[in-house]
Amino acid sequence: MEILHDYLEEEIKNLIEEYGEKSFRAGQIYRGIHSGKKISQITDISKDLRKKLLERFVDNPVEIIEVRKSKIDGTEKFLFRLFDGNVIEGVLMKYKYGNTQCVSTQVGCRMGCAFCASGIGGLVRNLTSGEILGQITAVNAYLGGNTEKRAVTNVVLMGSGEPLDNYDNVVKFIRNLSSPKGLNVSPRNVSLSTCGLVPQMKKLSNENLDVNLTVSLHNPFDERRKNLMPIAKKYTVKEILDACNEYFKKTKRRYIFEYSLVKGENDTKECAEELIRLLKGRPCHVNLIRLNEVKEKNLEATADKDAYRFLGLLERGGLSATVRRQIGVDIDGACGQLRRNYLEKENTEEGLF
Ligand code: SAH
Repeated sequence: MEILHDYLEEEIKNLIEEYGEKSFRAGQIYRGIHSGKKISQITDISKDLRKKLLERFVDNPVEIIEVRKSKIDGTEKFLFRLFDGNVIEGVLMKYKYGNTQCVSTQVGCRMGCAFCASGIGGLVRNLTSGEILGQITAVNAYLGGNTEKRAVTNVVLMGSGEPLDNYDNVVKFIRNLSSPKGLNVSPRNVSLSTCGLVPQMKKLSNENLDVNLTVSLHNPFDERRKNLMPIAKKYTVKEILDACNEYFKKTKRRYIFEYSLVKGENDTKECAEELIRLLKGRPCHVNLIRLNEVKEKNLEATADKDAYRFLGLLERGGLSATVRRQIGVDIDGACGQLRRNYLEKENTEEGLF
């Protein structure tokens, strides 16, 4: 079966013509699915056309199966089921200026970062562009929104998976998301986070897409970065910085470095000094993240007071930096944690553990 959310409006138009229907039907279908309706719920098209579509396309590619709401800050965590039974997760964060949804781009991940729960079982498969979009249309509708009245205003590609390891689907997703007939979320309100896949970062510079680029750095020294991120064996920090530079030249958009503080690993004075040496004067911002300790991983978070001490060093060194507010700590907020717990529960019930 195919996924209709994978199609751009133009592509739906072509399909509709193949079916011998009037082309304005394409707009109704496009608006319907982007508003979060199942194909079977698009009642402004004929029953016959719905039936034809359902012979080829899944009715609902991304279904919300669990919602958890943080009692502390209202953050909501969603568990979604895909048409093949795979399960992914996403988060909705509420800010004064709007609602930001964090989406997954892959089932699992093959990057194997030492602190991250998403990579524990490796990569299962890429999500299609429509399955990435479907997470947003589902949550937008869950919040009472549609294509006219958007409840999701900002999107971050920071859930499970490495977006640039699923390049074509991610780029198509961003184009579809920003369509004025769909949810009309501007790429300027989309942040793409990568562990630093240099060739794809360069390719992205040339897409004419003004997405915000975020890079997970986590250590300024190549040798030590390898302890946390296997991808550091492939690309150096210098290569990453050059790619960021190129991205800025093309898009004029400031880039962001993510830096999850791990006790004794990357929170030393030496690390701060090297970050300052490398980043001072660049059009960038450093986001310091408190490590979300994952039970399968043996890494300890830097204490809050030490995180602020590290922040002070960066600021005094002339960098723009912040310690990111911790959200959703009571709902398995970290990448891959909720899916992991769900899979474990399922497996235990089946007696595998
Ligand atoms: N693959 C992409 C996007 C995924 S994660 C990337 O690597 O950027 C978004 C951010 O959360 C990344 O910076 C990632 O390194 C970080 N992260 C993952 N697990 C974490 C954890 N347990 N605690 C703190 N940060 C974590």
